[in-house]
Amino acid sequence: MSPTQVVNLLKVCLDCTYFLYDGSFYQQIHGAAMGSPVSPIVCNLYMEHLEQLAISTAPNPPLWWFWYVDDTHTKLKKAHAQEFIDHLNSLDPDIKFTSEKEQDRTLPFLDTLTTIQDDGSLRLSIYRKPTHTDQYLNFRSNHPLEHKLGVVKTLLHRADTIITDPHDRETEKQHIKQALKDCGYPKWAIDKATAPKPRQQNNRNPGTRERDKGRITLPYIKTVSEPLRRIFASHGISTCFKPTNTLRQLLVAPKDKTSREEKCGVVYHIPCQGTTRQGTCEEFYIGETERSLRTRFLEHKRPSSHSSEVSQHIHIESPGHTVSLDKVRILDTEQDYFVRGLKEAIYIRALQPSLNRDSGRYKLPGTFDQLLTSRIRNDTCQ
Ligand SMILES: [Zn+2]
Repeated sequence: MSPTQVVNLLKVCLDCTYFLYDGSFYQQIHGAAMGSPVSPIVCNLYMEHLEQLAISTAPNPPLWWFWYVDDTHTKLKKAHAQEFIDHLNSLDPDIKFTSEKEQDRTLPFLDTLTTIQDDGSLRLSIYRKPTHTDQYLNFRSNHPLEHKLGVVKTLLHRADTIITDPHDRETEKQHIKQALKDCGYPKWAIDKATAPKPRQQNNRNPGTRERDKGRITLPYIKTVSEPLRRIFASHGISTCFKPTNTLRQLLVAPKDKTSREEKCGVVYHIPCQGTTRQGTCEEFYIGETERSLRTRFLEHKRPSSHSSEVSQHIHIESPGHTVSLDKVRILDTEQDYFVRGLKEAIYIRALQPSLNRDSGRYKLPGTFDQLLTSRIRNDTCQ
């Protein structure tokens, strides 16, 4: 793509944002699009541009300017500080910098605490906000072990690389070990994370090993994920795990949720609400749509929908039977056309809906049978 095309596409992504809040639709008219994955990159690019402009045009520029996202650490002569802040804030009416001066020769920046020593050199240690509670990923959490060992490694690595004074470093390490212990980390986990890495097995005989064919990311499901990783590894594919339920997903909702009926890109389950001599009709149908659940459901309900198995059932085969949108279940949400077809096929194979004439848009290989008929039926769909 040409730079012009990229810019035009970016404009579409950044300018065409709307969202639902408290029942009303809003168009976002200022700033980078909320929630868009491209926004942080654009913000970074803009801040870099703004800072370069600020420093190159300042009458008395700072002696240093370290920055990370929206935090900067600068050195200025006291007499020039206010002048520089005013200059920074004059460049863009929507971007306002605030400043914090050193106190008792110390200044926090990100997770470091800078102290100016008597000889003028800087001593760096770890800074924790007063509200910091030393809560790290709990060892009993449903996460892969490597993520937990990663927490230990990262904290110790930070102590090793940032802290300049050996005594401070030892104190910090003791602090980390106590905090991790409080979060349920056993001694062996800390030892394992800090043990020197075993030397990589030599790759001199590439013929005996599967070549590296790439990497996949799977949701982490305890007891299933680890064996899968070994199987993939034997085919030369390395595996990363990601946690499936995060607090962010559960708690953070800056925008209104789309109502069930208006959700697009769904795999759905329509049960018949009719009655037979034996009791309730147990026929049901599974389908998928890229449009909204309501739109697709109304099609199924129309008498003229000859191609719909649901319509055939309630209007022709069993007149008097009916279906209701309230009783339709969303089995899965998936925007990707191919993956949605795959998911539909998996649900059809697992749940064996009586109204479906075929096995779905995607032809699922028979190897899925054993896995699906036991597991999904018992766990996921009840
Ligand atoms: Zn029925």
